[in-house]
Amino acid sequence: MAPITDVPTLTPPSRSVVRAYIAIGANLGDAPQQVVTAARDLQRLGAAWVCSSLYRTAPQGASGPDYVNAVVGLDTLLTAPDLLDELQRLELAAGRERPYPNAPRTLDLDIVLYGDARIDSARLQIPHPRMWSRAFVLVPLQEIAPNRVDACHLHALADQAIRRI
Ligand code: AMP
Repeated sequence: MAPITDVPTLTPPSRSVVRAYIAIGANLGDAPQQVVTAARDLQRLGAAWVCSSLYRTAPQGASGPDYVNAVVGLDTLLTAPDLLDELQRLELAAGRERPYPNAPRTLDLDIVLYGDARIDSARLQIPHPRMWSRAFVLVPLQEIAPNRVDACHLHALADQAIRRI
């Protein structure tokens, strides 16, 4: 029998790069430093990367110190669930604990947008369901991706104090 020579090489399907936007927040410890460190750590998860200014905001629906917030844009090959795994690994490494809902935190990382994807699984909702009601997400997002933020949404949040630092 003739040897089989034309077996196709099995290559995994190639994934395309997706621009994801990740909201960073911290209000325990050295919050500005934790946000900067997280933004740099996120840089390792993709190719192109952009980070907004840092902002200071009052906690919403909770007491505790003011938050420091920023939003990072990242071109990544990671799937959305894999990206969430990486974010949760970074939160744990920063000493994140969840003693009760909305507790103060050393680091909070949320995927707010993942390209134009719409995901509604038990573990992951994208676009982040509360992003449109949070000035601490929309103001920094508008700074780095104005085409992703509707001015009407921003206008509706004008009563939420947010200060660039
Ligand atoms: P938090 O306590 O605010 O950090 O919320 C984390 C939980 O929200 C995790 O259990 C995630 O599975 C879930 N989650 C749902 N959608 C998202 C999202 N877009 N980004 C980050 N976490 C999400």
